[in-house]
Amino acid sequence: MTLHMLKEQAAPLSGYAALMLEHASTAMALFDTDELCLLAANRSFQSLLEPPWRQGQALGHPLTEVLPSAAHTGLVAQFRRVIEGGVSSHVEAVAVPTSFMEVPSWHGILDPVREQGQVTAVLLTVVAITDQALAQKTVQPVDLSSPHEAWEREQQRLRYVETILLSMRHASAPRTLAQEVLGALHTCFSPQLLAFYSAEPEHHVLSLLASHVQEPLQHVASIFPVRIALENDRTPFMEAIQQQGPLITSVSRHRAVDQEDRLLALPGVQCVVYVPLWHQRCEGIVVAAFGSMAEATDLLLPPLSACAPHLGEALADARQRTATAEEQQRLHTVLDQLPEGIVLVEARTGRIRYANPAAARLLGCALPQLLGVSLNRSALLSPYGLKGRSQQSAFRWNFALIHALWGKHVTNQEIIVTRPNGEEIVVLSSAAPVRGPGGFITEAVLVFQDITTLKQLEQQKSEFFAVANHELRTPLTTIMGFMELLQLHPPGEIDAFYRCAIESITGECEHLSRLIHDLLDVTRLEYARLEVKRDSLDFLGLVRQVVSTYRQTQSTHRLQFHLEAIGPTDRLFGQFDALRVQQIVHNLLSNAMKYSPTGTEIEVGVRPSYERQEVVLWVKDQGSGIDADDLPHIFERFYRAEKSDRSITGFGIGLYVSRELVQAHGGRIWVESSLDQGSIFFVAFPLGKAHLVSS
Ligand code: ADP
Repeated sequence: MTLHMLKEQAAPLSGYAALMLEHASTAMALFDTDELCLLAANRSFQSLLEPPWRQGQALGHPLTEVLPSAAHTGLVAQFRRVIEGGVSSHVEAVAVPTSFMEVPSWHGILDPVREQGQVTAVLLTVVAITDQALAQKTVQPVDLSSPHEAWEREQQRLRYVETILLSMRHASAPRTLAQEVLGALHTCFSPQLLAFYSAEPEHHVLSLLASHVQEPLQHVASIFPVRIALENDRTPFMEAIQQQGPLITSVSRHRAVDQEDRLLALPGVQCVVYVPLWHQRCEGIVVAAFGSMAEATDLLLPPLSACAPHLGEALADARQRTATAEEQQRLHTVLDQLPEGIVLVEARTGRIRYANPAAARLLGCALPQLLGVSLNRSALLSPYGLKGRSQQSAFRWNFALIHALWGKHVTNQEIIVTRPNGEEIVVLSSAAPVRGPGGFITEAVLVFQDITTLKQLEQQKSEFFAVANHELRTPLTTIMGFMELLQLHPPGEIDAFYRCAIESITGECEHLSRLIHDLLDVTRLEYARLEVKRDSLDFLGLVRQVVSTYRQTQSTHRLQFHLEAIGPTDRLFGQFDALRVQQIVHNLLSNAMKYSPTGTEIEVGVRPSYERQEVVLWVKDQGSGIDADDLPHIFERFYRAEKSDRSITGFGIGLYVSRELVQAHGGRIWVESSLDQGSIFFVAFPLGKAHLVSS
C-alpha cells in the first residue's frame, strides 16, 4: 500500500498488517509532510485524543488541530526536523500534549517514511507509560530542548538532596531529626509552611514532630494539629499515604477534591505538597505549602521525593533508638531503686558499664569510681593488694564474672568484700551472662546483697543453740541420773505413790530430752550441719532394740513386731547411722502412740525388697488418721495437721527431721492414711550391697 493510496482513501490500513496495527496497544499515526495532516491512525492512537476527534474524526486534520498543544510543546518543530533531516527522533514525555488527560504519560518516536528516497510522511508511534513514570516525570522533568538548563537543574537537585540528607546525620531522636530536616528544607526552598509528622499506625494517628511557619502566617493559631487521626479517607494526609507517593493539592486544580485541605484556605497558599516517607511502611509525612505551583513541583518535589525513602528509614531508626533508650532508662530507674548491688560488665571491653547506687554503697565507694573502670583494674574487683580471705573472695568474684562472660551462671556465692576503709562485709552474689540480639553475650551482670547481719545472726543463733544444748541437757541429765538411782531401790523400800511419781518424772524427762534433741536437729538442718555417719550394721537389730525398749517402758498400746519374708533371727546388713535410724523409728512409734487411743494395736514391720535393693519399715496404728488436705504437708517443718487433736502437744518437727534423716540415707518416706482410719508410715532404706544373713 502506498502513501499515495492512503492519502486518497484517508482510511485505516487494510489487510492483515492493518488488522494487527489496528489492535496493537501501541498507538500509531501517519502524518503527511506538508501540513502534518493525519493520514492514518489506529484505534489506540484515536483513543488518546479528545472525544470529538475519536472514531476517525481526526483523519485529514492537521496535527495542530488534533493536538492544539503540539505547537508550544515543540512537537511540531520536532516533526519538521524529522522531515528535513530524514532521521528518526524520540518524543520525550515532556512533550505530552496536555489534551491527553486520560493518559498519564507517554513517549514516542517519530520515523520518516520514504518513497523513492524522499521523505513523504512521518509515522508517530506512541507508548503510554505508567503512573510511576508520571511520578518520575513530576520529580525529574528533563527538558531536552535546553540541555544546559536541564543539567543545571539536575546539579541544583543534587545539591538539595545533599543538603537534606546531610541534615539528618546527627539527629538521633525523631524530634531532632524532624527539626533538622525542616531546617534544611527551609534553607533550600523557603516554603510558607513546613511540617514533619511521624506516623503511628498502631494508634492510627500522625503526631507532629516539628513545624515551621513563615512570617505572615505566624498569627494563625494551630495551623498544624499536634495529632491527626488517620480515619478520614478524604484528608490529603490519608490520600498521600494510600497512594504511597507525593500528593499535590492546589487552589487552581481539583478544587472539589481538595476541599478537605485546610491549608489551601490560608492566605497566600496556592499549593501544598504531602510527601509520605516510606520505609517498609509509612513512617511519616512531610508537608510543605507554597505560594506557587512551580515552586512545589519544580523545586521541592524532585529532591524531596528522592530523599523520602532515606528519611523514612532514618525516622524508623531514630524511633527505634529512642524506644531502646527509653526502655533502658526505665530499666535503670528500676535498678537504681533496688537494695541489691548490680554491676554490668561489658564483654567487649571488660569495663563496668553500669553500677547502681546500691552497688556503690555496698562497696563503700562513689558511683563514678566504679563506672568505666576496667574489670581487672577496678578497686572492687582487683584481688591484688588485698590480704588473705579477702583476696580469695575477690578472685572468686573475678572468676564468677569471667564465667558469666563465657555464658555460665554462678549463683549464691558468699564473698567477703573489703571496703576502702578496711571494713569487711559478707555479700551473697550471683553472676549471669546478658545476651544481645543474635544470642551473643554482650555483658555479664553481677548481683549482690549484704548478708553481714544475717551471717552475724546465724553465728549468734548457732552459738545460742550450742549453749542451750549444754545448759538444758546438763540439769536434765542430773535429774535423770537421780531418777535411775531412786528406781534401783527395792519395791518395799519406796512407797507405791513415790514409785509412780518417779516413773512419770523419768518418762517426762526422756520426752523433754528428745524434744531438745529434735530442736537441735532442726537447727543443724537449717545450716546443713546435720551429719549422718554410716557403718555396716544389722538393720533388724536396730529396729528390734527400739521396739523392745518401748515394750518395756510403755504399757498403753499393744505393740506388734512383724517380719515379712525374714526369719526372727535373721540379720539384714547395710550402711546405716545407728542413732539416726533409731531416731526415725522412735519418732514414728511415738507419733503412733500419741495419735491413737490407749489399748489399740501398733504394728512395726520390716520387709526386704531384693529387686529394689531396699528394706521397707512400716509403723501402723489404729488412730485418728490424717485428713487428705494435711497429707501433702505433714513432712514440712513445724507443720501440724489442722484436723488433729490440738490437745496433743508437739512442735511439728518429728516428721520433718525423720524425712531429712531418711533422705540423708538415700531413702524414701511416705504415708498412707485417711481421717479416722489409722495411718501407716513407710520408710524405705537402700540396701546396696547389703545382704540377708540367716543364722
Ligand atoms: P508433732 O510434734 O506435731 O507430732 P510431727 O512432725 O511428728 O510433729 O507430725 C506432724 C503432724 O503429722 C502431727 O502434728 C500430726 O498432725 C500428724 N501425724 C503424725 N503422725 C501421725 C499419726 N500416726 N497419726 C495421725 N497423725 C499424725
